[in-house]
Amino acid sequence: MKRAVFPGSFDPITLGHLDIIKRSLSLFDEIIIAIGINADKKYMFPIEQRKRHIEESFEGESKIIVKTYSGLTVDFCKAENADFILRGLRNSSDFNYEQSIAQTNASMSAIESVFIMCSPQFSNISSSIVRDVIRNGGDYTKMVPRSVLL
Ligand code: ADP
Repeated sequence: MKRAVFPGSFDPITLGHLDIIKRSLSLFDEIIIAIGINADKKYMFPIEQRKRHIEESFEGESKIIVKTYSGLTVDFCKAENADFILRGLRNSSDFNYEQSIAQTNASMSAIESVFIMCSPQFSNISSSIVRDVIRNGGDYTKMVPRSVLL
């Protein structure tokens, strides 16, 4: 069973996340979308709402499971019997950041990080930009899945 964990804050999930997950479905038997809980971080959307946004986006997709976790991502992967961490890349800043995380994770475990390059039409989308647009009353309907708008 090829199982991957796609960790993130998903505050909220965006069309960029959705693109990475959908395009990864053919690579894995199961993808656990893992919402990380960091007690020091302030979120815009409560955890239950973020979970619902994701579950509704993948309704009927049996390969997708949504969970929450705290602590190290590699420890969560081990507990879930997942051998892969899935991440998306938008640009060279993402690459630089992801490189050190992936190398640290590899030094702590046998878990491989797998990177999918985002589709060009989503490379400008991030959860933090969506939050900024929401705070300032802008139109974010083309950046997020329908479940976030409900
Ligand atoms: P984190 O706080 O861990 O960065 P995010 O929810 O912001 O969590 O992102 C989770 C993953 O999704 C990361 O690998 C990030 O690079 C990727 N990602 C975020 N936005 C996009 C996008 N627009 N296109 C492709 N990948 C993305």
